[in-house]
Amino acid sequence: MECQTCGRNAVGEGLVEGARVPLCERCSGYADEFSYYAPPKTARKAAALPAKAVRVSREIADDYGKTISRARDKRGMTRKELAAKLLIHENELASFEEGRIKPSETLAKKLEFALGIKLFEEIEEAGKKGAAESAAAPKKAGGVSLADILEIKKR
Ligand SMILES: [Zn+2]
Repeated sequence: MECQTCGRNAVGEGLVEGARVPLCERCSGYADEFSYYAPPKTARKAAALPAKAVRVSREIADDYGKTISRARDKRGMTRKELAAKLLIHENELASFEEGRIKPSETLAKKLEFALGIKLFEEIEEAGKKGAAESAAAPKKAGGVSLADILEIKKR
């Protein structure tokens, strides 16, 4: 693209006398409105940003054991059959189902796929923190409250 005004390499598009025309850096100052051409790569990166801004951590849900065994029962599979499908030992599957050992991320994904279940839960960092704070907020009766501490300091 060439600058409509001087023929230099245009860097963006500006509004000149009511028309959007390509303009170079120099001539962009004369435009009523000017916006730079966004390189395609930068544009894609910018579009991906909002998703990154929300911090979400993926964790295997605490009730993974029940989820696995229920889904397996539903499908009429024995532990042996499912374990064979996942290329793991039956005992390993048993320890997952009993909630003794959390499956690795790779295995959890395989289990999700094989059983059509969801083992991961997505936790928004901010939401998780807030929940933990509010859970810790109720004070035990007889505990030391802030008012007590202030009372102590006064003395
Ligand atoms: Zn120009």
